[in-house]
Amino acid sequence: PRPSPSASPPSAPVPGADFSAAADEEGLESFPRYDLAWEVDPTSGLVAGQMIVRYPWAGPEPLSDLVLRLFPNAPAWGGTLTVTQAQINGHPVRSTLTVEGTALRLSLPAPLPPGQSVTATTAFTLQLPPLGVEGNGQLGYGAGRVALAEAYPMVPCRGAEGWWEVLGPAHGDVTCNPVAFYRVQITAPATMTPLTSGRCDPPLSLGGGMQRWLCTAGPVRDFAAFLGADYQVVTTSVEGVTVRSASLPGDEAGGREALDDAAYALALFQRRFGPYPYAELDVVEGPLDRAGMEYPGLVLIQAAYYGEKREGLEPIVVHEVAHQWWYGLVGNDQVNAPWLDEALAEFSTLLYYEDRYGEEEAGLIEESWRQSYEAVVAAGQDRPVGLPADAYPQELYGPLVYRKGALFLVALRETIGDDAFEALLRQYLVQHRYGLATPEDFRTLIEGRGGPAAGDLYEAWILGTRHP
Ligand SMILES: [Zn+2]
Repeated sequence: PRPSPSASPPSAPVPGADFSAAADEEGLESFPRYDLAWEVDPTSGLVAGQMIVRYPWAGPEPLSDLVLRLFPNAPAWGGTLTVTQAQINGHPVRSTLTVEGTALRLSLPAPLPPGQSVTATTAFTLQLPPLGVEGNGQLGYGAGRVALAEAYPMVPCRGAEGWWEVLGPAHGDVTCNPVAFYRVQITAPATMTPLTSGRCDPPLSLGGGMQRWLCTAGPVRDFAAFLGADYQVVTTSVEGVTVRSASLPGDEAGGREALDDAAYALALFQRRFGPYPYAELDVVEGPLDRAGMEYPGLVLIQAAYYGEKREGLEPIVVHEVAHQWWYGLVGNDQVNAPWLDEALAEFSTLLYYEDRYGEEEAGLIEESWRQSYEAVVAAGQDRPVGLPADAYPQELYGPLVYRKGALFLVALRETIGDDAFEALLRQYLVQHRYGLATPEDFRTLIEGRGGPAAGDLYEAWILGTRHP
């Protein structure tokens, strides 16, 4: 039998409703605000969209352009996102498409001084690829379902070098976004149920068999929605957060297990890392090309894990839930420093197994990481953990970034001790919540807690190919 989650401490935070409650928090007016509308035809896979974003510019220099990323146009995604109209502050502007059609650069009519905001308004069409046939399963349509991940023009991160305009390899994650507030209107046949980032109001009937949902989310790094007519949805509540699991017909047992695992992980990670500040968390089954994928407030799990790969479902769900902290609350450049969220999410599954099943079961997880990594070393393929995603062939990405990365964190915990290590994770969250952390931030943090010994581990595992 599996034990139920241990009781939460009396000081457990009450999560705010997405958007309205969080918007009152201090400093959050500095985040972008999206108004997004999708009108979805699940038969043709055509989406008509509008996106308005108000982008506050902090400086230091005046801003001369705004970049919108159009990830459905990336080769691995198989979609076509076309911006048919673009305006800045209500006036049509010149735009240029670059980075394999995934970056649209809008020239501002006049340089924007720091401290002011710019509003970009776009109309777009999105042709989705057929799910399970083309693309990666994060975006598509088929069998009465629609997957809408990265399905709108989005403002990327911006650093000292300017806008983030990289396009990573198909085996890695694709975005680097600032957190923002989202108000999203979804129009679709009334037979469909939406599972989304954030939360949605009860739908408004439009007649003609169509409905409209208004959803809000924030502060979050992205907004994803999955709609289907035949999702089997089960629900539970964890300290005021509604957790939902949506599985496909015939996979209800996997759906219930995913709900149970996600609920346990959510309760545990809130205690260990810090509060999950949103109202809902959804776990959704889909025809994904990879095992799992994280979005704010929602994780997508490959359908095979509800069937023939069922014994592998639990660690996948837990890894993706951990991304709500590592990727979601604490962001990072997922293409140039993917280890920063992947190693932490993978390591978090060890904390889960230790807490839920004890040291022996957890030891098996750690041993599986070691075997995976040792096989790479034996093949003469060892590489540092801290490289960009495209520095790894697809088959080495998991063993080196996820598992060797998690083993680095195991070594770090052994060196500085359990209590100091957990304090370090909490400090990392507090320092970078709603922001972006860099590898240098992480190194500074661990050296502050663990001294030169922690720095040596960082050199050996993250930067080196020395076999530690
Ligand atoms: Zn991951």
